[in-house]
Amino acid sequence: MRQPLIAGNWKMNNTRAGAESLIQGVIEGSTGMTKTEIAVCVPFVFLELGQRLLSGTPIRLGAQNVSTEASGAYTGEISAAMLREFGCRYVICGHSERRQYYGETDAVVAKKLAMVVSSGMTPILCVGETLEQREQGVTETVIARQIDAIIEANGIDSIGQIEIAYEPVWAIGTGKTATPEQAQEVHAFIRRRIAAHGGAIAEKMRILYGGSVKPSNAADLLAMPDIDGGLIGGASLVAEEFLAICRAG
Ligand code: PEP
Repeated sequence: MRQPLIAGNWKMNNTRAGAESLIQGVIEGSTGMTKTEIAVCVPFVFLELGQRLLSGTPIRLGAQNVSTEASGAYTGEISAAMLREFGCRYVICGHSERRQYYGETDAVVAKKLAMVVSSGMTPILCVGETLEQREQGVTETVIARQIDAIIEANGIDSIGQIEIAYEPVWAIGTGKTATPEQAQEVHAFIRRRIAAHGGAIAEKMRILYGGSVKPSNAADLLAMPDIDGGLIGGASLVAEEFLAICRAG
């Protein structure tokens, strides 16, 4: 039995005051929700606030990116060790916005995963196809390439130390959600792909779905056998919506 994980990806949103009231709202509204693991991945500048407010609660803190390097002359970068020191449990790696706007390749993403794992945190690896790729019928080829690149760089055992989020690029922030059946098909493919590499972990690992998850569609998505939680963008910015999705898990 895989415990569902619902992780909020705030992206580059919120003020300090807004962040404080959102985290408080999530803490208060999630009391007694033990079935689902809950995490909030906040902008770097709110990590200290998150660490302070979430200390002593079951809600996990996460970041949205990390440097490929351990330390040194990398202006503007944040290392995995720094994130660990600020109480992060999760780090989103390879989000499609980073792949698209900041040119992150599979090789870069693999290095980030290794950094996060070696610093004692869990990466959330995002994979997913664009609309064009889906229409060309190459969804599985794209996902296989993204997963295989990590296995080739970091080894099959590294897969047991990460969470995977399937996020079809065409569903992120667009209001278009993959149907539960479409998402299930890709989640099952990911599990099969990992198993084919000899990964005994395939059945145990969590695969989250992300892409316009809302309170109205969360229960149907989360009811699918291979969907083990969600990575939530827009709806994680409103405590009531995020909590309603957590409840659906
Ligand atoms: C995301 O960016 O990870 C995401 C799933 O966004 P949204 O829920 O807004 O589509």
